[in-house]
Amino acid sequence: MAVGNSFSELSNQIHSGKLSVESLVLSCLSNIKKNAHLNAFVEVYDTEAILCAKEVDSKIKAGNAGKLAGMVIGLKDVLCHKGHGLQAGSKILSNFKSLFNGTVVQRLLDEDAVIIGRQNCDEFAMGSSNENSAFGVVRNAQNPDCVPGGSSGGSAVAVQADMCLISIGSDTGGSVRQPSAFCGTIGLKPTYSRISRYGLIAYASSFDCVGIIGRNIDDIGLVLEVVAGKDEFDSTVSQKAVENYSQLNTWNEKVKIGYLKQSVESEAILPEIRQSTIALIEKLKSEGHTLEAIDLPFIDYVLPAYYILTTAEASSNLSRYDGVKYGYRSPNATDLESMYKKTRSEGFGKEVKKRIMLGTFVLSASYYDAYYTKAQKIRRLIQDSTKKLMQDYSFILMPTTPDVAFKLGEKTSDPLAMYLADIFTVHANLAGIPAISIPNGKAKNGMPIGIQVMSELFGEKKILEFSKYILSLN
Ligand code: GLN
Repeated sequence: MAVGNSFSELSNQIHSGKLSVESLVLSCLSNIKKNAHLNAFVEVYDTEAILCAKEVDSKIKAGNAGKLAGMVIGLKDVLCHKGHGLQAGSKILSNFKSLFNGTVVQRLLDEDAVIIGRQNCDEFAMGSSNENSAFGVVRNAQNPDCVPGGSSGGSAVAVQADMCLISIGSDTGGSVRQPSAFCGTIGLKPTYSRISRYGLIAYASSFDCVGIIGRNIDDIGLVLEVVAGKDEFDSTVSQKAVENYSQLNTWNEKVKIGYLKQSVESEAILPEIRQSTIALIEKLKSEGHTLEAIDLPFIDYVLPAYYILTTAEASSNLSRYDGVKYGYRSPNATDLESMYKKTRSEGFGKEVKKRIMLGTFVLSASYYDAYYTKAQKIRRLIQDSTKKLMQDYSFILMPTTPDVAFKLGEKTSDPLAMYLADIFTVHANLAGIPAISIPNGKAKNGMPIGIQVMSELFGEKKILEFSKYILSLN
């Protein structure tokens, strides 16, 4: 039985009695076992998932199952799931168990999704290759010598290798889109505030978004419809009504699209990525759409602004891990101060420590205005100019990444090269707009290529419909 089918196909089979949720869960569990070397999951809830599947099967028979009955879902290790381990890929949260369900997790369970396990990721979602996890690296299913991207690497690989139908990840600067591009999956980062962050471990709160990774657009729309919307536990979440993202219309409008000029001209972009982007642009033109080359506002400043603001927010958010409240406490401490110091020195990995120090530096009294204030101003300019751009264009199109999945270890000693993997994805997080990565061919070495579609604030339905249309052109 193909786990890779769309949920609506599987759901039809489930509701007509041809397929049981239990057998679907068993197939996923067997794929997880077969692919254990990819290290996508840090914990698999096999017994619990089978029990849950049996319950859902009975509900289906009784005719009172929820919208997601049979949807097998994996959670990135940053989402609170009551009674289950939660570590954000870090030693500092060793043995920590969540005391409550985050809003997203609760809404999935209320609609009878089956949660199959907790997925590996970069520590505190900081990384672009999933090489920064206390649980070890994750490998790309297409070529296990290559990275899956990050930070939601385990989540993308789990969907790529049919270990679950949907993964819930998080995207602060590209963490669902970049691994989706590297693994050939689809990854949606909705508008900031579309989905509640209650129960999502914070990295940089003014950027963090819950994101959805799947194999097809309809599945993502359905899950978005279930999890999005107002929530009394998150004061930043939008009150805007949730659209019926599960009922997508066929796209038949001719639109004006801006594509990033550099993405078809720059030598820094892998030739095959340039070619596949040009091919799509030509295809869309031949379909009657208007395509214009554009410059992304302040493109030279997006990465510096992103890394200043996110490290500042992270240094504040991660101050709560002090050996007192959660998880790990150093056994070598002799007094209060040494407990803080040793716990944090031993508990955090290298990348996280680097970012806490950077963030503390940019927030320090003598440098605050030079870095933090300036970066906030840049962010405002980016937001304003993006708003203007979106009045002229229905969508912005560009490759998700400048390169395909690289070899494990290839960029670990070159942080700048690693940060450049996010050059095209951070813009949407700075501006708060929705963005999706969908597959757009393969490089000569067989590794997947992704194309990114962005639109105006709360344009999720439009993005999903248009992405489905793009995929149908191939
Ligand atoms: N790779 C980016 C970073 O390391 C994005 C991470 C994310 O979106 N969580 O910050």
